[in-house]
Amino acid sequence: MKTTSKEKLFYTDATCGDVARWLRIAGFSVSSDVEPEATLPSLSANEGRLLLTRSATLAQTDEAKILLLPEGLASALSLLREKGLLEPIKPFRRCLSCNQLLLFIPRPQVRPFVPPYVHSIHNRFLICPDCKRIYWSGTHLHKMSRFLDELFN
Ligand SMILES: [Zn+2]
Repeated sequence: MKTTSKEKLFYTDATCGDVARWLRIAGFSVSSDVEPEATLPSLSANEGRLLLTRSATLAQTDEAKILLLPEGLASALSLLREKGLLEPIKPFRRCLSCNQLLLFIPRPQVRPFVPPYVHSIHNRFLICPDCKRIYWSGTHLHKMSRFLDELFN
């Protein structure tokens, strides 16, 4: 996977699945794992990622590389935003399941794989190179705008 050095990279444990999903919607690269807690700091550090957790015990082990998030998705995202970690938001480019960057797929090729109504009203489709899930703008953008409205307005 190609990333630039400016991009914020995250790693989430089992306590932060909701945050991981939202960060991917916003276009950030998030590795997630349900490994035993003790191995997570070194796994995330090896990938140059900031480890996000809601476990106070885990957060205490290396405060420089681990960020303790509050309960609640809005509170967690607000904290990330306060710390300047939610920039830049680039929605609609990453698979929500496997974190891969999505690839453009020509509209005629997706016809068999999406509902006819969806195919008829959308022009731009993207596919995950790993799991082959197909995305169209409605999937991401509606969630994004709803979340952003709730959070930041
Ligand atoms: Zn995928």
